[in-house]
Amino acid sequence: MKNIIFIAPPAAGKGTQSDLLVKKYGYNHISMGDLLRKEASEKSEIGKEVDEVIKSGNLVTDEMILKLTDKALETIEEPYIFDGFPRNMSQAKILEEALIRFNKAKPITIYLDVSKEEAFKRGTGRLNCPTCGKIYHKHLDEVKPKTEWICDDCKVDLVSRNDDSEKAFTVRYENYIEKTLPLLDYFKNKGELYVIENPMFPMETFAKIEAIIK
Ligand code: ADP
Repeated sequence: MKNIIFIAPPAAGKGTQSDLLVKKYGYNHISMGDLLRKEASEKSEIGKEVDEVIKSGNLVTDEMILKLTDKALETIEEPYIFDGFPRNMSQAKILEEALIRFNKAKPITIYLDVSKEEAFKRGTGRLNCPTCGKIYHKHLDEVKPKTEWICDDCKVDLVSRNDDSEKAFTVRYENYIEKTLPLLDYFKNKGELYVIENPMFPMETFAKIEAIIK
C-alpha cells in the first residue's frame, strides 16, 4: 500500500477520504489541521497564537509545521497519509528532508480537483462530531447524518468549525490558490502526481483512490 499526500482545496474531502482509508486499510492518518487544533486547544502562549491563525484562515509558521512533522514521523508506521501537508514549497522541502531523517518511504500525491464553487458549498455546510471527529455535511446526501445534526455514532450535537465561516473560508481558499496549487507542478515533475477530477461522491472517489494505491 502506497503512502499518500492529499492536495485539495479546503473542505474538498481530504478528511473523509482519509477516514475511509484508515478504516479499510489501516492507514495512519496525519492531519496537520487536527494536530494544529490540538496545539491550539492548549492554553499556552503558542496555543493561543495558533488558535488565532487558524481562525483567520491563514497558514501557521513553518517552524510549527517542522516541529509537528518531526513529532509525527518519529512514531508513525507506514502506510501513512499526510492530509493538509505540505501546503507550500518550503513545507515540501521540510517533508522531503524529514522523510530522509526518519527513513520513511516516499509518498505519492493525490490531487482532488474540486472547483471553487463546489469547495465553497462544501466548506460552508460542513459539520463535525465534537466527540469522534467524524465529518458530515448539511447539503451532501451521502454524508448527511441520519438524524438532523446529530452524530450517527455518538448521538451528540454536531458543530461547525470556527474557520468554516465565509470570511475565513475565503482566506483559506486564497492561500490555497497562491501557495498550495504551485506544488502540483513540483510533484508532477517528480512523477508522483495522480489527479482525481471533480470528485463529487465520496464512495466513487474512494474507489478511484483504491485503484491508485494498490
Ligand atoms: P482545510 O484543509 O479544510 O483547510 P485543515 O483542517 O487541514 O482544513 O486546516 C485548518 C487550518 O489549520 C488551516 O486553515 C491553517 O490555518 C492550519 N493549517 C493546516 N495545515 C497547515 C499547514 N500545513 N501549514 C500551515 N497551516 C496549516
